[in-house]
Amino acid sequence: MDKRTFIKDIGLIGAGVLVGGKSFAFKWENLSMAPFQPDPLPYDFTALEPHIDAETMHIHYSKHYQAYIDNLNKAIVANPAYAKQDILSILKNVKPTESALRNNAGGYYNHSLFWKWLSPKATPPSEKLQKAIVAQFGSMGNFKKEFAKAAAGVFGSGWAWLVVDNKQLKIVSTPNQDNPLMSFSEAKGTPILGLDVWEHAYYLKHQNKRPEYIETFWNVVNWDVVSADYSKLA
Ligand code: MN
Repeated sequence: MDKRTFIKDIGLIGAGVLVGGKSFAFKWENLSMAPFQPDPLPYDFTALEPHIDAETMHIHYSKHYQAYIDNLNKAIVANPAYAKQDILSILKNVKPTESALRNNAGGYYNHSLFWKWLSPKATPPSEKLQKAIVAQFGSMGNFKKEFAKAAAGVFGSGWAWLVVDNKQLKIVSTPNQDNPLMSFSEAKGTPILGLDVWEHAYYLKHQNKRPEYIETFWNVVNWDVVSADYSKLA
């Protein structure tokens, strides 16, 4: 792509960066959309103790999450056609071969969801969601069992999800940082709850015992948020 096409694509017309034919630098301030920023964590790193330890939360949020965001912003500079899209459009439009964008847009979005689905104060699901879970999975206990099975069954790194697909609850999983909203994802639906089963999410406290981490997850699920998301979709 030549400079003129590049500038047109990212809407830099009039920025004067070609004056004198000098080198061109991508400038976020010239775009309508700012680079992606981390969502604030709605609680302290220590707040989910003893279920999720503070050191894991600190490294997960400050290092891993930040790295996805930094690399997402770099990937957008390298793919300026995405520069004016919000994260949901990027997830929908990214191609499976656009690895940097796929992995880091997913990494950014999946973690932004994950933080808000956790809470130091466990709340029960809404009556409407509880009824739907019982109708779909037989009981709350059986739902947790099936979700745990999906989470334990992810080979390597990935996520287990509770999604709403055509108003129906489903448990699915995705590899790496894929999200069911990506057009090429085999798992379909809109996530209303998800569990990060990358080793970075649990290894400091639970080492190889992923099922122990999955079990403890239920103590810190923010069902208020999950229920609110559910009622928008079903
Ligand atoms: Mn993670």
